[in-house]
Amino acid sequence: MTINIRNCSRCKRIFVPVSGEKICPDCRAEELKLEDHVKSYVRDHPGITVNQLIEGSGAPSKLVWRMIMQGQFENSGLRDAKYPCGNCGKIITRGAYCDECAGKLKQNAQKFAEAMNSKRRAAEKKAQSSGKTFSDSMYDAMSNSRSR
Ligand SMILES: [Zn+2]
Ligand SMILES: [Zn+2]
Repeated sequence: MTINIRNCSRCKRIFVPVSGEKICPDCRAEELKLEDHVKSYVRDHPGITVNQLIEGSGAPSKLVWRMIMQGQFENSGLRDAKYPCGNCGKIITRGAYCDECAGKLKQNAQKFAEAMNSKRRAAEKKAQSSGKTFSDSMYDAMSNSRSR
């Protein structure tokens, strides 16, 4: 049996990840402490801006923005925890995309899955009636749709 070991991406120490972590337990604990510190800083300074928070708490801006994107500061008194949607640029306060884009992206993924499913069903039917192998018919279905 092999034991997975990994270099902590923060302190470079070797550790054994339990479920795919990129940083060692020591660094994780430190990060959690830092997150707590950042959160209580916002509680203690209602109405501050993101920059004031980063400067005042001494936390890395990367950590602060990650917390903002996770929605940890919603309704928290942090004044300008806003950034553009990754797709349309609309100003949002949590997640990677605005509601509209998130909905559209989800719909597209669903449509794609449905299209693939109906192609597969059609190919299966064709295979049954024509005596061709399933993969032959699947290939036909795929190339037909491509040339269309
Ligand atoms: Zn570490
Ligand atoms: Zn958007």
